Amino acid sequence: MTAPRASAARFPWRDSWPGTAVSGDGNGWLTGGCWLYCGRREVPVLWVGSVHTPGAIGELYACGGCLAEIALRVRHQALARDAAYAGV
Ligand SMILES: [Zn+2]
Repeated sequence: MTAPRASAARFPWRDSWPGTAVSGDGNGWLTGGCWLYCGRREVPVLWVGSVHTPGAIGELYACGGCLAEIALRVRHQALARDAAYAGV
């Protein structure tokens, strides 16, 4: 059994972090190019959001593996931010 994280007492909802979208889960998956880490083409991708650059706005799509990777990075960032806030 692992010890509860220090932030768990202040942010109990973080212990039940929702899963990442996966192909076939009912979301609006399309076939296309992944704009994130893998750069693969013609794979199932999901719209992530709009990307604003100085010259234009683009629509960012990502595959399931890259969505899982970015979700993990966001989770680590959020937990680190919570730990800093909690002073641990
Ligand atoms: Zn990808």
